[in-house]
Amino acid sequence: MERVFTYQDIQTVYVSAEAAEDQLSKRILGRLGTNVQIIKYPSSKDPLATSAALEQDARMAEGKQTLLLTRYKGNWLKACPGTARHICCNLYVVNQAEGCPLDCTYCILQAYLRRNPTLKIYTNTENLMATVQQRLEAEPSRLFRVCTGEMGDSLVWDNLTDFSLSMVPLFARLENGVLELKTKTANINNLLTLKNEHQGKTVVSWSLNAKSVTEHDELGAHPLKERLKAAALAAEAGYRVGFHFDPIVHFSGWQDEYRETIKSIFEHVRPSQVAWISLSTLRYHKDLQSIMIARFPESKLPYGEQFLAKDYKIRYLQPIRLKMLRFMWQELKSVAANIPVYFCMESPAVWRAVSGGLPIAGSEIKEIYCVGRAGLCSCNDDLRR
Ligand code: SF4
Repeated sequence: MERVFTYQDIQTVYVSAEAAEDQLSKRILGRLGTNVQIIKYPSSKDPLATSAALEQDARMAEGKQTLLLTRYKGNWLKACPGTARHICCNLYVVNQAEGCPLDCTYCILQAYLRRNPTLKIYTNTENLMATVQQRLEAEPSRLFRVCTGEMGDSLVWDNLTDFSLSMVPLFARLENGVLELKTKTANINNLLTLKNEHQGKTVVSWSLNAKSVTEHDELGAHPLKERLKAAALAAEAGYRVGFHFDPIVHFSGWQDEYRETIKSIFEHVRPSQVAWISLSTLRYHKDLQSIMIARFPESKLPYGEQFLAKDYKIRYLQPIRLKMLRFMWQELKSVAANIPVYFCMESPAVWRAVSGGLPIAGSEIKEIYCVGRAGLCSCNDDLRR
């Protein structure tokens, strides 16, 4: 089994001129210690950027060991783009970092960031916090479910940045916000110190999978057992916890392994402590397929009964997808019928076929879909058809 990522794996840190005096840059450099090469960097551009296709695989590996500290100048809070003709789950994303030092074979960031592979942490976090606060206060009738794990893992840098120590109390104060921290790590030390402050407004969620997928296709991540132990500790500290089965992979013996993972979840947390569980079968942009094959020749994920759909994503054939989603849905619902389960980016037809209705039919997932609140996001139009 691959070993778990540690901060000692970072070899080089570039510090852009604009970030050099930021408090967060100093904290990160102080915690990384003396074994890392620090380079003062005049620009904020990716130091490993390349458009040469042949160099990209090698640079991706180098990028996993290289960190750029810089400031972010774009729009911090964005609605998740979702997928055309699929029901989306009303998620907003905010990225304090870009890129991930873990190395999952199926990670879409390999395609998104192949020209700019350096890991980045943005150091102007006061600006991030102010932006989030202003936006949520400007729309008090809308519920914002905000996740920080779109362009990386929400907690992988937390012991360097202490980002959660600012974000969790912020969301505790904001009436119409729920923060989701999504991870494949067990880095919850900071969260445990906030047990009297989170006010139930932060959901800590873990991406889970069949054991063999976590071992072979999630390099650098914490083993399944450690993720679940961390979930138990977070739940004990009063956090609601979430789980994401993403991607659910089809292989010989998949039912037994996924059943085992589901059983393990409820050996660690009670159904009442679960905020939501999402299900999503393996799908990936066609550009990712050749990258996966080149970088991870032993991975079985790019093979099997898959097809290229109209949205340029490769998916399992519909009967396989339905079989897997139905299996997972039934296994979870057999533990507790009202456990909040949803499908990530699936069509209304799949919702009907597996759950017997659209999300609006399930009151237990109200929070995810904002059902019945003013200021619904436009994707909820799908829920009524
Ligand atoms: S943990 Fe998430 S962001 Fe990080 S490599 Fe894996 S899939 Fe990508």
